[in-house]
Amino acid sequence: KAKQNTRDRYSFYDEEMTKKAYERIFLETEMRKAFEKDEFVVYFQPQVHAKTKILTGMEALVRWQHPDMGFIYPDRFIPLAESTGMIIKLDRIVMKKAISQFSRWKKSGLEPKKVSINLTMTQLAEGDFYKFIKELLEYENVSASEVEFEITEREIMGNPDASIKALEKLNELGISVAIDDFGTGYSSLTYLKRLPINKLKIDKSFIDNIPKDLSDSAIVKTIINLCENLELQVIAEGVEEENQNDFLFENNCEDIQGFLFSHPINVKDMEEFIKKHT
Ligand code: C2E
Ligand code: MG
Ligand code: MG
Ligand code: MG
Repeated sequence: KAKQNTRDRYSFYDEEMTKKAYERIFLETEMRKAFEKDEFVVYFQPQVHAKTKILTGMEALVRWQHPDMGFIYPDRFIPLAESTGMIIKLDRIVMKKAISQFSRWKKSGLEPKKVSINLTMTQLAEGDFYKFIKELLEYENVSASEVEFEITEREIMGNPDASIKALEKLNELGISVAIDDFGTGYSSLTYLKRLPINKLKIDKSFIDNIPKDLSDSAIVKTIINLCENLELQVIAEGVEEENQNDFLFENNCEDIQGFLFSHPINVKDMEEFIKKHT
């Protein structure tokens, strides 16, 4: 009987594995087609001042509009894009779309302020990347100071020496960098001081339980102080509640991103948001 059970478990496990492998191959094939069929769409999530609600910038977030599967969120395809190398192409498409939309808003007389774009470290190892971004900005008439790249703390700290070199090149172009998901990636304080970065984004996991959770509240205050002392900007992400917003504002974190103010929204809705919050 015991043996029977074990075998059932194994075959179930096998089946699951096979199913997962097929799903992966299916998704990978679909994704390769998605580039040609232009199925990637850029959404924007506003970043606002905690009290005035005035727009300070926006984050570009990719979505995949698949004809049969519908709307697919990045958590389902970014890891696949990373493991297959497709992330290089995908992130460049997002940059093109986000920056050209930003440019269109400016031309129509709106003030979109600044656009943040997520970037994988491997992108910076591509020799032609700096030329790509420089030409894109020139072509779209967007200045480097209007663009910010977000790189996760985990990735930056994965190889801090290489990160310093790569980020210095971005700095030379005048593009600022924010460390995304800050607090989840074991930053070395020594490196944090040496890295040519401009901003820390406090990860949502620390925001969720403030002000009730005292240790999370202490961590958030510490990160804000750290930014003050290292002369870095700070923004909180994943802010959903008024009392989280109040706590952040009272502790000198004035830049907020989260569902409290807006979900990531499409171009048309973002346009309305810019008009209302300038
Ligand atoms: P991220 O860069 O940390 O982006 C923030 C994520 O949190 C977004 O999820 C956003 O929709 C979500 N979020 C924002 N405010 C709230 C809130 O108040 N509550 C909750 N529950 N969630 C909130 P999204 O759009 O699903 O993106 C997930 C992750 O995928 C991003 O995390 C980023 O790491 C990655 N990603 C998205 N777009 C791109 C891209 O174009 N390139 C690359 N390389 N990665 C991307
Ligand atoms: Mg981000
Ligand atoms: Mg984040
Ligand atoms: Mg994230």
